[in-house]
Amino acid sequence: MPPAFGPSALDALVGDLFPKGQKPAFGRTQRAREWRAGVLSVASREWLNQLKTTEYYEGRVEDLEKRLKLDAGRVQAASGNLSFFDFVDMLLGKQKYEQLISLGLESPEQLGIEYGRLLVDVCQGPPSVTLQAWLNSLEAFVRSPHLSDSSASELENILETWPADFQAWPYLRSSERSRVISRCEHALEHLQQYKKGGTSPDQLPTGLALLGQRPLIAWHSDLHKCTTCADEYRQMPHSLAHSSYSCFFPQARASLARQMRTF
Ligand SMILES: [Zn+2]
Ligand SMILES: [Zn+2]
Repeated sequence: MPPAFGPSALDALVGDLFPKGQKPAFGRTQRAREWRAGVLSVASREWLNQLKTTEYYEGRVEDLEKRLKLDAGRVQAASGNLSFFDFVDMLLGKQKYEQLISLGLESPEQLGIEYGRLLVDVCQGPPSVTLQAWLNSLEAFVRSPHLSDSSASELENILETWPADFQAWPYLRSSERSRVISRCEHALEHLQQYKKGGTSPDQLPTGLALLGQRPLIAWHSDLHKCTTCADEYRQMPHSLAHSSYSCFFPQARASLARQMRTF
């Protein structure tokens, strides 16, 4: 059995974020030390103890480790000597970083606190294991025996764009992850209605829509009959109602990678 995840494992993963092979050693600089102390003041021993008592503790820790390792990989992949501010910028994202600077919150400790808050958020809301469980049960429902052959082919189409890569999950805010899970729940309702023969094929969710930003069900004339879907259209910015952006699909991953490079 692997040793339980604890404060020293977290401290080591935070230390692994520092760029290697720089002179002077990045992690030994005063600013890096203060930053690290800021991170661990939020993602603290007490926080980890409290986290242990929550549901899906192991899944949350897995996501936390995944996020830290992906972040470390991004930092180590950057070329040249990184300045402290380049480093912070990469981890917080340009927008957040600029917002903090404009508020005068630029002490190394404060910037560390902000990254600590991101780590805490990774462990809130639904973990990857919850998403995986939902996708598995939706897929099982799609594959389960159909009443008629005509509905079978429509349902098989859903699996053509079935999401398989969840690397982006620990990069979504907890509120966004909760939204995705509630869409999975709603997708099941639409699939059930369809299988009962109650709705037409244009009212089926697609695998692509499931984890994307645009509405779960493409626009159709009976949309107002489902209050959940109608609300989703009402709350969504008009540009998104038509875009196919998703952080889980190749074109979107490429653009995410581009954003990360320009950090
Ligand atoms: Zn609906
Ligand atoms: Zn429109």
